[in-house]
Amino acid sequence: MGAKILIVEDEEQLARFVELELVHEGYEVKTEGSGRAALREATENQYDLVLLDIMLPELNGLEVLRRLMNERPTPVILLTARDAVMDKVSGLDAGAVDYITKPFAIEELLARIRVALKLHGPGIGGGQAAKTEKTEGVRTWGPLVLDEPKRRVTVSGHEITLTNREFLLLMTLLDNVDIVLSRDTLLEKVCGYEYVGETNVIDVYVRYLRSKIDDVFSLRMIQTVRGVGYVIKSWEE
Ligand code: CA
Repeated sequence: MGAKILIVEDEEQLARFVELELVHEGYEVKTEGSGRAALREATENQYDLVLLDIMLPELNGLEVLRRLMNERPTPVILLTARDAVMDKVSGLDAGAVDYITKPFAIEELLARIRVALKLHGPGIGGGQAAKTEKTEGVRTWGPLVLDEPKRRVTVSGHEITLTNREFLLLMTLLDNVDIVLSRDTLLEKVCGYEYVGETNVIDVYVRYLRSKIDDVFSLRMIQTVRGVGYVIKSWEE
């Protein structure tokens, strides 16, 4: 069965058009036209991806996104109006994996959906994930536990507060233990594909993670591989 996608769009014609295209591609699709209904639907059911319009009646898309990330983190692609730069930035900061500007070509939307599902969908990390102990979205590395469903990280039981991007970066590295990931790969996973901005942003997030985890707990978790990228090596006592 195809991935399960929720379309949240109040413009009926557009919603219907996208729905037909996605069904045609083999996805399992549901559509909601208001923010409130969408939030209820997406928190009560597990979707592989949510296409979320920002301008919505009742509860706007950014608010839906924030609440969804707290209650049931799900990959989200935002549908934004042209020139709504602040919406895009706030959306990515709030945890969206990508955005697409309206009006869009359906082929572009389909391509972004495929990328989002590949990077963030079920089975992220693929076969490599088996290298970390993984129980229902929980990764452990020595004293560190990353609980994806609860979006929670603890070290020896102490909770660490991470931003969405720090969390994603740490999770991506933990899903690829002993595999060196390039800054480009990490950038794509953490900031979404077609991210435009500072390319050293990954270095900045690594620094934040080190100051929140390594420095506090005397660990050496994320290692720099000069000229290549970063890696978390298997935990050794
Ligand atoms: Ca709208």
